[in-house]
Amino acid sequence: MCDPVILFNRRRELAGAVNEKVTIDRYGVMGYPVSHSRSPVIHRLFALQTGQEIRYELLQVAPEKLDTAIRQFQRTGGKGLNITVPHKHAVAKLVDQSSERASTAGAVNTIIFRGSELYGDNTDGIGLLRDLNVNLGVNLEYANILILGAGGATRGIVGPLLEMQPASLRIANRTPEKAQKLVDRFESLGPVTACGFDDVPASEPYDLIINATSAGLHGGTPPYPEAAVTENTFCYDLSYGLSPTPFSTWARDHGAAKSVMGWGMLVEQAAESFHLWRGVRPDTAPVLKQMNINA
Ligand code: NDP
Repeated sequence: MCDPVILFNRRRELAGAVNEKVTIDRYGVMGYPVSHSRSPVIHRLFALQTGQEIRYELLQVAPEKLDTAIRQFQRTGGKGLNITVPHKHAVAKLVDQSSERASTAGAVNTIIFRGSELYGDNTDGIGLLRDLNVNLGVNLEYANILILGAGGATRGIVGPLLEMQPASLRIANRTPEKAQKLVDRFESLGPVTACGFDDVPASEPYDLIINATSAGLHGGTPPYPEAAVTENTFCYDLSYGLSPTPFSTWARDHGAAKSVMGWGMLVEQAAESFHLWRGVRPDTAPVLKQMNINA
């Protein structure tokens, strides 16, 4: 029979191990689908680089279970969440408080749990701008910009793009009414217009086309407006993949000057979220390099 003292100590050890596990701060990304997300790898690299001990999980949650899943994550030791397709707009309505940029966007991609309160923020805009301006050297001032898509990601990037004082910003969407809603929301910030894919004027060459549809996640290539691309157009796909995304292939096939996938934005917006959660800003350059991203 086992010595009761040894047994007692063993139980204490095990309890200690369990408690230790529980005290590791939990983060994650919630989406539907979410299996494509590379956020766990990025946050692991940030944690290693900054010496922070965190756990970061992929959480596939259907829209109707979103509220319950967020509260459950919070109750079980969650400290913060990233929110991805298609939940960003819905979460903006669930949070108790939000930053100015998240309120302006009406979309949340980062939740910070403050006691029992949910605080929402949006790091998509700053993430995209850092990638375009700093990593890729794209000048947005006086640029003619076309965004394809009018979902949660577009909500997060329109305001910051308008702050860069482009000559024009058009939002084209499969459902034009949704693009028009965004124009109503953002028109006080700058020259923004809306239309359907078929109505993008052929006469308007664009300096920058951003694909913010989720069509690529399902392997689709919607009828993107061919006339919008010239040999001077920089094409940027918010979607990313280990092989070229359908939009980046489409852009190259239509003679774009450059076609880049959204790895850089992914890493930059993640760094901003990490900073909000942990108070330490990771250096993104080595992480981009480590992920062997050749956008
Ligand atoms: P949402 O679900 O909120 O919006 C999806 C958008 O895509 C809508 O405008 C929708 O149009 C459009 N869409 C979906 N399927 C099709 C299709 N078959 N043909 C044409 N349009 C279509 O998603 P998000 O805005 O949150 O995300 C959009 C994409 O951006 C995702 O792929 C996401 O992974 C990526 N992303 C990448 C980031 C990065 O850091 N690199 C950051 C944020 C997002 P409709 O309104 O007509 O339904």
